[in-house]
Amino acid sequence: MAEKHQHIVMLPFMAQGHLIPFLALAKQIAQRFPTFTITIATTPLNVRYLAAALSKTSTPPPQTSQIHLSELPFNSTDHGLPPNTENSEALPLNLIVNLCNSSTSLEPAFRRLIRDITAADAAPPLCIISDVFMGWVAEVAESFATVNVTFTTGGAYGSAAYMSMWQHLPHRSADISGYFTLPGFPDSCSPFHITQLHRFLRNADGTDSWSRYFQPTIANSLNSFGWLCATAAEIEPLGLAVLTDFTKRPVWCIGPLLPNGLLARKPSRVIGKHIGREPGVSPEKCIEWLDSKPENSVLYISFGSQNTISPSQMMALALGLEDCKHPFIWAIRPPTGFNSRGEFKPEWLPDGFEERMARADRGMVVHGWAPQLEILSHRSTVAFLSHCGWNSIGECFSQGVPMIGWPLAAEQGYNAKLLVEEMGVCVEMTRGVESSISREEVRRVIETVMGGGSKAAEMREKAGRIGEMIRAALTEEDGRKGSSLKAMDDFVAALLLHRDQIITAATI
Ligand code: UDP
Repeated sequence: MAEKHQHIVMLPFMAQGHLIPFLALAKQIAQRFPTFTITIATTPLNVRYLAAALSKTSTPPPQTSQIHLSELPFNSTDHGLPPNTENSEALPLNLIVNLCNSSTSLEPAFRRLIRDITAADAAPPLCIISDVFMGWVAEVAESFATVNVTFTTGGAYGSAAYMSMWQHLPHRSADISGYFTLPGFPDSCSPFHITQLHRFLRNADGTDSWSRYFQPTIANSLNSFGWLCATAAEIEPLGLAVLTDFTKRPVWCIGPLLPNGLLARKPSRVIGKHIGREPGVSPEKCIEWLDSKPENSVLYISFGSQNTISPSQMMALALGLEDCKHPFIWAIRPPTGFNSRGEFKPEWLPDGFEERMARADRGMVVHGWAPQLEILSHRSTVAFLSHCGWNSIGECFSQGVPMIGWPLAAEQGYNAKLLVEEMGVCVEMTRGVESSISREEVRRVIETVMGGGSKAAEMREKAGRIGEMIRAALTEEDGRKGSSLKAMDDFVAALLLHRDQIITAATI
């Protein structure tokens, strides 16, 4: 592999679930290609998030010094967003489309950045890796005679389903019971159901603001040189086939992109700084609590960086948790309809719930950001009740921990379908924020996954096997390169070859 200096520029979407894997990708490239420089461009607040995460990273300094951050000016109020809002975590879901649309305002400053890099390096960047939500970058790359590579921070199956849904709106011809097939997915795949779609997509008809954003963005992304996907090829063979068919481009599966690399499963270890909000509990306190619990006994509950559940669902979940007696850590945020960063009101939970759980040493309720990596890699954690965001899935399965699915938005419903039907490592509790769920149902599902039954044992075994596959994909040992590392090298080799061909063509 050529060890010449090369520059790669990255443009993530402004959301924690995108910044985290972009930074992990930058670190992975820096580690494998020590002569490369990587510049991540984003808005000022998101640069601060990334800088804080980089400064406390456990990655050694030579690699972090290869990663540069570049601020693109941004004024949220120009886009109908609240003042100083630059990240989806601070927004109600209905305003996220404004954040998506606002991303095109970054284009002039992004062009200036590419121009400056081209002048300083006396060559355009080797490539621009842009988020699948930033389809406009394809044109920028072309105008600077470089290539655009689209990075989907989701898995292969979920990303392909998400894009195909927006492109084809197939649910509009769902049968009376709500089932429909999705173009690009083989007949062997069971039909999709309308409840797996977020309501913005369910209500989409091609003229709504979400379709008007996603349809051209996806079409533009399909012009890119190739795709990077945050998955490992062997855990998603069907997904990889469908995504390759959808993009008609090479797809390099270089994931999952774990923020701090592969972590061993053990107690008592603080991992590092997280991108984003102030922690709701210190990692040390959380670990101390987990240390006091038996191995494989704790349920971790989190709905990710931007989603939450409805008030009645929150009540049912709390009652079900109280009924089922397993210890738990619940990263909680105000329910739907309330300011997600506002004060948490006790009436959203059963009377005296938090005090009872604390007194009995049964449950830890974390208000705000939880140290997810510390929790999932702790030996006491046995299952994860999750909204099925792809980063959470990767972090969970790299630890061989099975899941309880409660998909809420984006491609999470399709991720849950993959985990249940293709992988057999998840039981869905319910879907979305509109469904009704009882405390009995909560208890029943938790017991299925955490109890002593054969289903629980089978899921743990399958999750363990997926964990091993992920470890193998991300490890290089005795000259054997894991598939995700090999894909990363193949990706860079393809870029260098393309660059050489262009230079040769220009000199003939
Ligand atoms: N996360 C965390 N603590 C929290 C909530 C989220 O560390 O309290 C991290 C989590 O580890 C993951 C990311 O935020 O890396 C969430 O990404 P995901 O794709 O799972 O969901 P999203 O937030 O994008 O919906």
